[in-house]
Amino acid sequence: MLTTDFHPTGRHFLQIPGPSPVPDRVLRAMSLPTIDHRGPEFGALGLKVLADIQKIFKTRHPVMIYPASGTGAWEAALVNTLSPGDHVLMYETGHFAFLWQRLATRLGLKAEVIAKPGMDGGIPTSWRHGVQADLIEERLKADTAHTIRAVCVVHNETSTGATSDIAAVRRAMDAAKHPALLLVDTISGLAGADYQHDAWGVDVSISGSQKGLMLPPGMSFNALSPRAIEASKTAKLPRSFWAWDEIIEMNKGGYWPYTPNTNLMYGLSEACDLILGQGLDTVLARHQRWAEGVRQGVRAWGLPIQCADAGVYSPILTGVITPEGVDADAVRKVIYERFDCSLGTGLGKIKGRMFRIGHLGDSNDLTLIATMAACEMGMKLAGIPLAGSGVQTTMDYFAGHPVKLVMA
Ligand code: PLP
Repeated sequence: MLTTDFHPTGRHFLQIPGPSPVPDRVLRAMSLPTIDHRGPEFGALGLKVLADIQKIFKTRHPVMIYPASGTGAWEAALVNTLSPGDHVLMYETGHFAFLWQRLATRLGLKAEVIAKPGMDGGIPTSWRHGVQADLIEERLKADTAHTIRAVCVVHNETSTGATSDIAAVRRAMDAAKHPALLLVDTISGLAGADYQHDAWGVDVSISGSQKGLMLPPGMSFNALSPRAIEASKTAKLPRSFWAWDEIIEMNKGGYWPYTPNTNLMYGLSEACDLILGQGLDTVLARHQRWAEGVRQGVRAWGLPIQCADAGVYSPILTGVITPEGVDADAVRKVIYERFDCSLGTGLGKIKGRMFRIGHLGDSNDLTLIATMAACEMGMKLAGIPLAGSGVQTTMDYFAGHPVKLVMA
């Protein structure tokens, strides 16, 4: 059977760490007729979403919205702030940090990679932890000539399930008295994990639509600081589509220099109403609670969680390491084919060693319990010996921890 002919009954369980399940309310908003992107209604919509997205990034400064996936916004952050051959310091937390570094190198930047050294359970240690800010401080202190122009870190490393402490990175840069810009990928962190662009002194924050914002893929963001805007005035890397200056100018009226993705803008407006209406603190607490319920289930199976540092567990996803000799992708295949549930694959250096459970987007307790059930059944079918029932443990956790509304 072709997968394109695959129409099972009920809803598919899309429990990958993005694209995340999109609320019906958002899908309905996107089904409105496409309007003139130079007309008055569009200008009003543009101004509304630009104001809403600032609240989600927690910034008073401009936010660029691109009709592109997150990779485009990664590129935009670099080409607007840097010049050919510039030296950037990048911290390897996992596969997405690696991909960003490869992109930087392809653009002609000199990307220096640092990481926590060593191996842990057959996996690079830095792929099981968050950014270690003291390593950044040490490296910046050694750069007395200030050749390093930017420090690039991934906030929520989607390939591993570790959420780095960005405020600590800023403190490390300040302690080193280093003028480099701080560029942060929060593609999977925004609106799922705490994120504070202004308060943490981030110069460019990069995000995407298809994770915590609960939108389909196809839209991405750069939140800017005044220093980043200043740097863009002298940065020499070639750019046209990504150039901030023209966008900032046109955004003053709620418009873009090119055709924006109108229907995703409707979706963004609706998603922001949902998130801001509930309050960001309530949204963040919801993800923390799901994450804890899932982690307790994974522990009950007796399987290691990919992130080895409880202080930086991701609220958005949990990486599950399968026993030595078991191909995690074969297990994912059984779970997909038998139970119509998608889980995230192991990426790059950890391919086949783990799978990822996404707990974000339009999920709820029962979707996550069903996901845990699909994993448990699939692992048993694949012959993995489990220490106990993760499903029961997750159910007990959710039942014992009612949702608390966090008042703004
Ligand atoms: N950075 C992180 C942390 C991601 O999770 C992803 C995608 O999953 C990307 C970058 C790349 O974004 P995209 O696939 O939207 O281009």
